[in-house]
Amino acid sequence: MTQQQQNNPPPPDWNAEVRWTLGEDRSFACPVCRTTAKQAFHLSLEVWPGRYWDLFRCRSCASLSFPDGCAGDYEAEWVSPSFQAFRERRYIEVGAALDVILQPLYRVAHTAVGRYLEVGAGYGFSVDFARAQLGWDAYGIDPAPEAKRGAEALGWRLLPEYLGPDLELPGGCVDLVLASEVIEHLADPHRFLEDIKLAVASNGVLIITTPDADAVTPDAAHPDLTGLLAPGWHLVLFNQDSLTDLLAEHGFEHREVHRDGQSLIAVASMTKQDQPPAGGLDRHAYQAYLDRRRVDLKDHASLSVSLNYRLYKDLVNQGRFDEAGTILVDLNDAFNRHFSIGFDVPDSVEPAYPSPTDNAALSRLSPMNLPGAAYFRGIHAFLGERDNAAALAYYRLAVRGFVQLHRLFDSTALPDAEAGQLLERLGHNIAMVCSPGDASEVFNALTAVEGCNRNLEAAQRQALEVLLNRGMLDAADLLLERFRSDLHAGRYADLKRYHRKVQTFVAAVNGGDMKAASGAVDELRSDAVTLDLANGFAWVLLQYHAAILASLQGSPDPALFRQSAAAAAELAGRLRDGGISADWAEDYYAAAVFQELKAGGQDGEHHATGTLANRIQEAKALMGEQVAAKLQQKMKVSKM
Ligand SMILES: [Zn+2]
Repeated sequence: MTQQQQNNPPPPDWNAEVRWTLGEDRSFACPVCRTTAKQAFHLSLEVWPGRYWDLFRCRSCASLSFPDGCAGDYEAEWVSPSFQAFRERRYIEVGAALDVILQPLYRVAHTAVGRYLEVGAGYGFSVDFARAQLGWDAYGIDPAPEAKRGAEALGWRLLPEYLGPDLELPGGCVDLVLASEVIEHLADPHRFLEDIKLAVASNGVLIITTPDADAVTPDAAHPDLTGLLAPGWHLVLFNQDSLTDLLAEHGFEHREVHRDGQSLIAVASMTKQDQPPAGGLDRHAYQAYLDRRRVDLKDHASLSVSLNYRLYKDLVNQGRFDEAGTILVDLNDAFNRHFSIGFDVPDSVEPAYPSPTDNAALSRLSPMNLPGAAYFRGIHAFLGERDNAAALAYYRLAVRGFVQLHRLFDSTALPDAEAGQLLERLGHNIAMVCSPGDASEVFNALTAVEGCNRNLEAAQRQALEVLLNRGMLDAADLLLERFRSDLHAGRYADLKRYHRKVQTFVAAVNGGDMKAASGAVDELRSDAVTLDLANGFAWVLLQYHAAILASLQGSPDPALFRQSAAAAAELAGRLRDGGISADWAEDYYAAAVFQELKAGGQDGEHHATGTLANRIQEAKALMGEQVAAKLQQKMKVSKM
């Protein structure tokens, strides 16, 4: 980082106020294109309680800058050592988005890189990845204390300096320089690029990531805005064109600037390049890195739980439950060894997130990824182990943890993006696994969402859909009573009524009340079409029981069961695509095919609808081995 004039900026305040009310335009030279015309007032940002910096948009290049801002002092510790230690744990355990941090390294062909430098390396996960996983000769530059701690913990090579013309680089120029989220911190981007050019070999590549100025709009969400503006720290924001032009002005023959969410990623070199790779993270390499480092660093409490957690979560997300189970053993062990947490007995775990005002509090602090680990452990239990009771216990632990964690982040004015998002999903996840008797667990999860000011309505709708689809209508009613009353009206009222009618119909068929059942079929069919429900749970129930009804009335129709099987197969496919258990739909599929064969004569005399052998073949192709085996078993049992 270039040494700049320093003053005393505050530590970033994530609750800082943003005022969009009209301010005065002002004349000053644009730090990017150097135009001296009047700059347009864009917004006013509270960088210190009661103290505001005005942000201006250049009328020529549309870059944004704070002319009153000064670069921060990156060597200073802004907070007490205990709070600093807390912040570091937060970064390692939940804050660092490793897959996002590592992604820029996949914007270059790895065969061309031997030596790598990261400017503003921070804690240094990307230097560590470059070294440990990619085998590059890698080091980082950063004067900040957190870089020193990261280099020590992870064991990478650090130059604790600012980048500048006088800085001697060990071994000379490198093949790849990464400056991630650095250039926006500097008042003079021109000087920064001249300094950085000295570090890049003549055929080397520079990668810059920085917030996108075009994302700073009044309709951006407040947490996103504070991330883009980092009150007191960011000084200049570029857009795609202004960053491209800046790179051209400094002699970068090859330059491409991509927009990626609210960020820009620039790839530049002094010589013409072949089209570089598109830049997706290599998931396999990422997991191999986590797998290697979680073993190397098993004695470091925070890193040990974090690296195990990240790998576990990735494997669960990919549905690789056997491998996840292996990592889980070590995750349990790390929780137990470093934090005395018995993660394998979720009901016994009490997450503790006291305010980090002193060292004593810090020693009691649970790992901040504990609720996330419980969340993914619940998914693992539900989908991988088919153990709903275990899933529910882990989801309950996740709710308890997220509520406390939210309170902690809120009191320290730090964002809790992932915690909030996962918390919003828990009502839905719990509704998937709970029995009608413990539907109150769904309410607890939604109460937590409400208490943490997250999106209650979205969470409630998701949970409600599941309860309706599972036929837990009483729980759905209670849910509507307890929370937002406006969901009573409209579609949800219609859905509820419809599900009730289908349940009554199914009960009539099962109870042999032919008269009531036959009277209802046509109306239910046409209602399903009107309500756009001819593809869900209720539809599968209706189709199957309508076919059963015909059989009971003495006219078994294989075609009706065939339709019913097709509906169940379609639903199962959609559930599996959504990462949801399709057990229920698979069972209906097997039952419908079984009934179809029975209705047609299972020895194959009913050639129009096919024989047992080709139904089994079809089940294999459509539903997988397990369902086919289930069907075969059913046929065997029925023959005996
Ligand atoms: Zn400009």
